[in-house]
Amino acid sequence: LPPPEAEALQHPDVSALLPHPGATSDKYRRGVVGIAAGSNRYPGAAVLAVAGALRGGAGAVRYTGPATAEVLARFPETLISDKGPKHAGRVQAWVVGPGAGDEQAPVSEVLALDDVPVLIDADGLRLADPGAVRRRTAPTLLTPHAGEAAALLGVTREEVESQRLWAVRELASRYRATVLLKGATTLIADAEGPVRVNPTGTPWLATAGSGDVLSGLTGSLLAAGLPARDAGSVGAYLHGLAGRYAADGAPTTAYEVAEALPTAWRDVT
Ligand code: AMP
Ligand code: MG
Repeated sequence: LPPPEAEALQHPDVSALLPHPGATSDKYRRGVVGIAAGSNRYPGAAVLAVAGALRGGAGAVRYTGPATAEVLARFPETLISDKGPKHAGRVQAWVVGPGAGDEQAPVSEVLALDDVPVLIDADGLRLADPGAVRRRTAPTLLTPHAGEAAALLGVTREEVESQRLWAVRELASRYRATVLLKGATTLIADAEGPVRVNPTGTPWLATAGSGDVLSGLTGSLLAAGLPARDAGSVGAYLHGLAGRYAADGAPTTAYEVAEALPTAWRDVT
């Protein structure tokens, strides 16, 4: 078989996909992102996912999880849902998993919300029941790095790294989901159709929490109504650009990458 066709994402493609608020949009129209993330051990992952979502254009963010105090300290605009995803109220896309530790319940609850797009990242990937993902009718977007992809596929990290096109396709087909495989070059794919290759980024993005920012950002693009494949593409592109702005050739932090998202956004507008 020939290798699957790959296409590099271009600035004008991303520009055309970027959601802009209409003159009469309200915050619900802009998109409400639900974030089920963080744990007592990793509260910062929740803060970074919320940062990515708010800087990624969400009209509002609803947070559910044990890091409420940390999230509110940084982002007082966050809406808090005490009773878990099912009772969180109106949400146009869910992000589940960053820093989630071993909390199974929120992952299962979110996956059961069958009319809402869901992005699953980090610990959520390990906790998600593959059958429950496959049965979903609304879009699902998985965002593993090579190590997480290897665990899902039952192969080694080296095998994923040496066959990234195969890995991203195989995951998409096994989970009936869109897959964004992170790394020095991020790939976005469905089971069929061309694999998108993200050209932006910098090795300085290899820093703790950077993936959590991408999750929130991409969640906000899903909430704005972009199909999973486009949300993943635009998310990876903006995240890579923001990484370059934040780092500018020197070390940066995940929080600063989130803070640079508006600069990246203006660049693509
Ligand atoms: P995570 O591993 O979940 O924290 O995500 C790391 C983020 O940094 C992903 O968006 C990766 O694509 C990005 N990243 C990691 N290493 C590199 C690299 N060497 N060059 C460019 N981007 C990278
Ligand atoms: Mg991660």
